[in-house]
Amino acid sequence: MNGPAALSEETPMTKKKESQKIVFASAKDVPLMPMSLGSMLFNKTGSWRNIRPEINLADCIQCGICWKFCPDMSIAIENEFPVFDYDFCKGCGICAEECPTKCIVMVEERK
Ligand code: SF4
Ligand code: SF4
Repeated sequence: MNGPAALSEETPMTKKKESQKIVFASAKDVPLMPMSLGSMLFNKTGSWRNIRPEINLADCIQCGICWKFCPDMSIAIENEFPVFDYDFCKGCGICAEECPTKCIVMVEERK
């Protein structure tokens, strides 16, 4: 399949993300804008989650739509199938909603 599986190993999607604490010297140094776009690559947002996506690979048609729509870049494509990064997935359910074959289901988080 051409598309997501054809990504090089150096893209942000395939590069392992590292957790990093962002520290500001004072309150006035905190930017007046949403933080998520700049910090989602570094902060492990997976701890927010109370439901998680799980996939039935037998019904996956390898379209990559879940990968494209995930707002947290928490889906990688490995061997042409999606793989969730639960350290960063916050359980929004967008991947399950957009999946054309409904092979992603949101299940209650196991603590
Ligand atoms: S539930 Fe949301 S954050 Fe998690 S993999 Fe799906 S789209 Fe991404
Ligand atoms: S959107 Fe659904 S069918 Fe398409 S790659 Fe993702 S899990 Fe597979």
